[in-house]
Amino acid sequence: MYVVAITGGIGSGKTTVANQFAALGIEVVDADLIAREVVAPGTPALAAIVNHFGAEMLTEQGLLDRRALRERIFSDPAAKFWLNALLHPIIRSEMLRQCAAVSSPYCLLVVPLLVENRLTELADRVLVIDVDEATQIERTCRRDGVSREQAQAILASQANRSERLAMADDVLDNQSGTTETIRARILALHETYLAFASQQAPQL
Ligand code: ADP
Repeated sequence: MYVVAITGGIGSGKTTVANQFAALGIEVVDADLIAREVVAPGTPALAAIVNHFGAEMLTEQGLLDRRALRERIFSDPAAKFWLNALLHPIIRSEMLRQCAAVSSPYCLLVVPLLVENRLTELADRVLVIDVDEATQIERTCRRDGVSREQAQAILASQANRSERLAMADDVLDNQSGTTETIRARILALHETYLAFASQQAPQL
C-alpha cells in the first residue's frame, strides 16, 4: 500500500484537508483515533496501565482517565518513558495494519505528531499542511473556544514550523488563496499520489 502521511500543527487544517482527500475516494487512517482505540476497555494496553499505575487511572465507567494519566506522567520522566514504550509500538503496528487493509489506490495516514514521534519512515510520502503560527492560533481559538495563551501553549509543545517543513516531501499551503485555489492544490497532490501509487503497484 502506498502511504501518504499528512501532518501539521494544531489548527493547520489536517482534518479539513483529510476530509477533502476522503471526498476524492481516498481512505483515511487516523493516528489519534488509533491512539484512543488501543486503550479502550478490554485492551491489553489498558490492563497494563492499570497494573502499572493503579486503578485510579480508570473512570467510574471503566474508561482510561486521560487527565489522571497525564497528571501521573507530567513530572515523572520514567513513568512517561514507560508509557511511551508500551503504547508506541502498539499504535505503530495498528497504523500499519489499518493502512495495509485500505482498498483505495493509496492510503492517507493522518498523524498530528509525525515529526515529534519520528514516524516519517511509516510513510512513502510526507505531506505537511502549512500555515503560519498566527493563523494556527487564530483558527484554534475559533474552533476550540480556547484563549490565545492556551493555543500558544499547545503550539509551543509541538514541533515548530521549520522542523515540520524539514520533514516534508510536499507542502500544502492552507493559508493563501481562496477555498477554490486550496482545493485545486489538493486535487493536484491527489493526481500526483495516484501516479506514484500506480508506479509502485506490482506489474501483473
Ligand atoms: P487540525 O485538524 O490540523 O487541528 P482543522 O482541520 O480542524 O485543523 O482546522 C482548524 C480550523 O480551521 C477548523 O475550524 C477549520 O474549519 C478551519 N480551517 C481549515 N482550513 C481552513 C482554510 N483554508 N481557511 C479557513 N479556515 C480553515
